[in-house]
Amino acid sequence: MTATAQISIDVAAIVANWKMLRRQVSADVAAVVKADCYGLGVRAIAPALVAAGCKTFFVATVEEGLGVRDLIPASCTLFVLGGPTPGEPCTVFLEHGLTPVLNSLGQIEAWGKAARARGRGAAPAALHLDTGMCRLGLHAAEVERLVATPRLLEGIASTLVMSHLACADEPDHPKNEEQRGVFHTLSERLGLSAPRSLGASSGIFLGPAYHFQMVRPGVALYGVNPQPERPNPMVPVVGLRAQILQVRDVDSAMTIGYGASHRFRAKGRTATVGIGYADGLFRSLQGRGRGILLGSEVPMVGRVSMDLTTFDVSALPLDAVQPGMWMELIGPRQTLDDFAWQSGTIGYEILTGLTQRPTRLYTEAP
Ligand SMILES: *Cc1c(COP(=O)(O)O)cnc(C)c1O
Repeated sequence: MTATAQISIDVAAIVANWKMLRRQVSADVAAVVKADCYGLGVRAIAPALVAAGCKTFFVATVEEGLGVRDLIPASCTLFVLGGPTPGEPCTVFLEHGLTPVLNSLGQIEAWGKAARARGRGAAPAALHLDTGMCRLGLHAAEVERLVATPRLLEGIASTLVMSHLACADEPDHPKNEEQRGVFHTLSERLGLSAPRSLGASSGIFLGPAYHFQMVRPGVALYGVNPQPERPNPMVPVVGLRAQILQVRDVDSAMTIGYGASHRFRAKGRTATVGIGYADGLFRSLQGRGRGILLGSEVPMVGRVSMDLTTFDVSALPLDAVQPGMWMELIGPRQTLDDFAWQSGTIGYEILTGLTQRPTRLYTEAP
C-alpha cells in the first residue's frame, strides 16, 4: 500500500553534502540530527553519516539522545544541546553516554556535582556561551563568575566551547562579526584548551574565520540552501509528490473547496490531489502554491484541506491530465526553498512539518 503523498529522502545526497563540507572546511564537521534529522528519519541517516566518517552528533533533548545513542557507536560523541533540564537527574546522561551542553551556571553546578558523586573522574561536557542570541548560554557576567569560582568546573572535562550565530544567513549583517568578536573574547577569558565551535550551516559559509575547531551543520546536510541570496551549493535531498485523484471541468459558476475562496472566471479544469495539511502542507500556500505537472507549473487554487488540494490545470492539453498521475511539489523543477517561500516559511519548518502519513522512500547510501 502506498499513500497518495510520497516523500523521497536521498540518504546518499545527505552523505554527499556532509563530505562536501568536510572537504571545504579544515575544522571537524559534526552533524546536527535533532528533531529526527529535521523530520527525515535519524534511523536511516545517522548510521550512513557514521559510515562516512562523522564522529560528533548533536540532538536537542535527552529523549532524542536516548533514541540516537544506539544508532551510533559508543566512540562517537553525542551532545545534547539543551543539557539537563530542571528536575532531570544528570545520571541519565552519565548512564547513557550523553554529553550535555551546559547553558547556565545552574547546569554547570549540577553536572559537576553529579560527576564528583559518581567518582569516576571528570565527566565531559560542552560549555555554551551566549554571544548575542539571548536564548541559552552563559553571558559575559556569568563567564566572569565562572572564572572567579574555579570550583564550579571541578569534576567537569570541558571538551567543547560553543556559541550560536543569530544572523549567519545574512552574510553582510554586522551582528556576525560582533558575535565572532564576543566569542573570541569570552572563550579566551575562560582560558580552557577545549576546541571551539561557532558556525552552523550558514555560519560555515561566512568563511574560515567562523570555523574554529568544529562546525555544526544541520539543515545544509538535508539540502536546504544555507546562503539564501546565492545559488544553493548543497545537493537536493528531499522530494515531495502527490497523486491526482480526480480531474474535473469547471466553469465560472463554480467555486473551489472550503470557504468557496476561489472562483473560476471562465471554463477551466482542475486536478484534485491527495495531499493536505495532515501530510504537512501549509494552509498558507493558498494563493501562492504551485505544482509541477508534465513539466509545467500549475497554480494551486482554493484552500489546502486536510487530505486534498486542488490545482488549476486548464493550461495543459485536454486529456493530458489523468487520475493516477503524480504532481511534483518538491523536486528537480521546484526546490524545497521555493516551496518554503510559497508557504511563507523556511525550509527548516517545511522539513520538520512533514508528517508520518505520506509514504517515505529512502534511497540508501551506496
Ligand atoms: C539547530 C542548531 C544547529 C544546526 O543549525 P542549522 O542551521 O540547521 O545548521 C547548530 N547549533 C545549534 C546550537 C542549534 O540549535
